[in-house]
Amino acid sequence: MAGAILEGGQSIIVRTGDSSDGRPRTLRVKSLASGSSGNAYLFWFGSEALLVDAGIPLRQVQAELRRLPGQPRLVGVCLTHEHADHVSAVGAVCRQFNLPVITSRGTLDELHRGGLRVEGVAQPLGTTIAVGSFLVTSFGLPHDARQPVGYIVGVGPWRVALAVDLGESCEDLISALRQADLIILDSNHDLRRLLSGPYSGPLKARIAAPKGHLSNEQAARILLQVADGRPRTVWLAHLSAVNNSPRLARRTVARIFEAAGASPVRVDVALRDRPSAVWSPLELGTQGRFDFGRDFT
Ligand SMILES: [Zn+2]
Repeated sequence: MAGAILEGGQSIIVRTGDSSDGRPRTLRVKSLASGSSGNAYLFWFGSEALLVDAGIPLRQVQAELRRLPGQPRLVGVCLTHEHADHVSAVGAVCRQFNLPVITSRGTLDELHRGGLRVEGVAQPLGTTIAVGSFLVTSFGLPHDARQPVGYIVGVGPWRVALAVDLGESCEDLISALRQADLIILDSNHDLRRLLSGPYSGPLKARIAAPKGHLSNEQAARILLQVADGRPRTVWLAHLSAVNNSPRLARRTVARIFEAAGASPVRVDVALRDRPSAVWSPLELGTQGRFDFGRDFT
């Protein structure tokens, strides 16, 4: 279970991973679901896997783990915030794998107040903890939850930045994205569609607020700020089924990047209701042009 919290230090050792099993040693990432009906993102490296958010049924997490080469074991569960589409299965997942949940102090308190009965590790914002082979750094995000966070997940030289559910940019976000080989970023709605769509006035206002969600255009402008020529992949995430589409999201980013003459970046969409393709850093060598490829299947 949870290991030591090092007093005054930057590290919390949750569990030590295997070191030699002969399996491929590249970090890989897969989005299992991304949107208001459920969020879960799986990272794996050799024989270990890390889950960020648990908003899909336990059996689906188990099935995905079984499907992965070498069937890695889950060594950690991290949560971005307490909204139901991110935590609905966290109790079941943590109990099944005998793991604590790792999240911010505020999110943990909120979950315990809501009746969650699993052990928790409260990770202070801005610190890095080792979870098996994964180095997990959290940073704060503006969203209408108690203490929402994004993560940088690192293994060896590779970094993945995940920021879903946020309403506007912030300094910590930009510095996190700048480090990343893969960026998973909220791109929830097309603002015009949201405002002219069927949602109630208060709900529209909440989604468009600084503590709501990013529009496609906001996501594109954030990505522009970190476009420095480094080969990287972007997954637009948490798309609304009503106020957005994968094609519209990608095209908005493409339009804004092309207008700015920005450096190449590969942009894909993590779909709401089905797993993505697998990302690994090996993909990065194939880039060199604008590629607003495919919807993941
Ligand atoms: Zn949320």
